[in-house]
Amino acid sequence: MVEFALLAKLTEAFGVPSEEHEIAKLMEAEFKKRGWHAETDRFGSVVAKSPKCKTSPIMIAAHMDEIGLMVKFVSDKGFLRFIKVGSIDDRVLPNQRVVIPTPDGKIYGVIGHKPPHMQKKGGERRAPEAKDLFIDIGAKSRKEVEKLGVRIGTPVGFDIPARHLQGGRITAKALDDRAGCYGLLKLAETLKGEDVVLVGSVQEEVSMFGKGAALSAYRLQPRAFVALDTAIAGDHPEITDEESGGIGLDKGPVITLVEAAGMGNVADRQMREHFMAVAKRAKIPIQLEVIEGGATDAASVYSVRGGIPSIALGIPTRYIHSNVGVCAARDIEQTIELMERAVKTFPKK
Ligand SMILES: [Zn+2]
Repeated sequence: MVEFALLAKLTEAFGVPSEEHEIAKLMEAEFKKRGWHAETDRFGSVVAKSPKCKTSPIMIAAHMDEIGLMVKFVSDKGFLRFIKVGSIDDRVLPNQRVVIPTPDGKIYGVIGHKPPHMQKKGGERRAPEAKDLFIDIGAKSRKEVEKLGVRIGTPVGFDIPARHLQGGRITAKALDDRAGCYGLLKLAETLKGEDVVLVGSVQEEVSMFGKGAALSAYRLQPRAFVALDTAIAGDHPEITDEESGGIGLDKGPVITLVEAAGMGNVADRQMREHFMAVAKRAKIPIQLEVIEGGATDAASVYSVRGGIPSIALGIPTRYIHSNVGVCAARDIEQTIELMERAVKTFPKK
């Protein structure tokens, strides 16, 4: 059973790239609760070592950051212009509710957009671009905004609560990759006796590719690396199986063989065979993915130091890089189970 309250808490925490302190604090506390030695490194990633962690452990990372926005200008009338941080389709932005951390706590806002009555008719009506949109926090002047501590560089996140859907499915913001973060915490309950380090990484969404995980890997010198992330589920009316490779919900964890058309990680052959064999033995269904766009922390970790054997395991998720993801509880559970079994039976050298 997926512990919905914990997953909801993780997805609702704030963590726009470079501003991951809230989710990091939560992750560190949850690791410690489970008896792991956890600390937040200078770059912001949370590094949790099992009581049995030695000099070259298996490293599993899930990125804590989420796509979001950042203030780039405050108008005289108190409206905020913004940039996107991470890859977001402009069309999902108009009229979204947003949350902004300030020194005195969170404040809320909406991305304003003119109503249909005022828009041009017919073919001229088009989706606005992010640069033409603005955030309305209710302030009446720049001075009022500044007094709140909101300024150029202030991060902005989406304000979306997690909810149950039908059929054991869950919708939330930032499932990419808080579903993975949830996985790390569950693994902390079952991998305590293993030579493992679990890392909640930062700035995965704003790099070519994962910044935080690569820095942690350099320091930790793991003997193998697994990125625990999401994979694009295409089982809805807008995407065909030909486009998605047939990746869908309730079909089990996704093993990503090739990321970013080969520019990202190419799954280590031995790890790939190991994960596939473990899944077969445990009768866990798996899905295989080769993807042209998109990569994970594995894309930056594999080339650290002399090369670290790496693979990415994904929880299938619909609508990623928007403000609403959808995933299936069963896929989350099976992905965690596959990871646990694969680590426990991982070849010693
Ligand atoms: Zn991700």
